[in-house]
Amino acid sequence: MRQFGNFSFTFFHQISSSTLSVSSKGSAEPQQFFTHKLPNKPCFFYIKHNDWVKLKRKQENRQFKSLNWTNVIAKGIRTVHPYCSFGFKRYTVKSLGSRKKCPAFACSGYCLFEDCSVQVDVKVESEYSLRADVIFHGDMMNHRLDQLKRRRIRSHARTKISKKLSSKLPRQYHLESLMKLEEDMMESGCRDDVPTTGVLKNIAYSERKKTGCIRTK
Ligand SMILES: [Zn+2]
Repeated sequence: MRQFGNFSFTFFHQISSSTLSVSSKGSAEPQQFFTHKLPNKPCFFYIKHNDWVKLKRKQENRQFKSLNWTNVIAKGIRTVHPYCSFGFKRYTVKSLGSRKKCPAFACSGYCLFEDCSVQVDVKVESEYSLRADVIFHGDMMNHRLDQLKRRRIRSHARTKISKKLSSKLPRQYHLESLMKLEEDMMESGCRDDVPTTGVLKNIAYSERKKTGCIRTK
């Protein structure tokens, strides 16, 4: 049975591929970090054809009307580098019917951890192959051991979770997701796949309201 308390104590004995570093950075208390090398080049993943078709249905000029693209891209990045939690700052989609030689899709993101300087560019050159090339900037990721970060749950990811919450309680869902995390993911502090119980309660509540199981007035 995995223990969820006293992580920083047990990490010293369990770290394998990743490393733990200590830095004082001028503060009285030395900070402990989870560090890991970024994956070797080339890095890429393929966007599922179905996912792309659904995104394109919501395209308007050079943008998507839904934020589900952030779920699709973040999930793809996790297959090559699972430890950072990415937020996205800009993106562009090739206009429908455009003959210009520009990528079908491109976006830039950054790691949400305060001490981590990792940034990422994702580019899909061709809509036929749907190969998404991932270019990381920065040599090493750096996450403080006392920090946890997770992406906001939006769009389709929210709907998917709300369906699962029809058969289990938010706290149960949270604990089960936590139990599924590998040791190195646990150490990295990235909790993209482990929503908090509070967030899950909100999702369950909104769903019940939508389906009329709760009277709002
Ligand atoms: Zn990071």
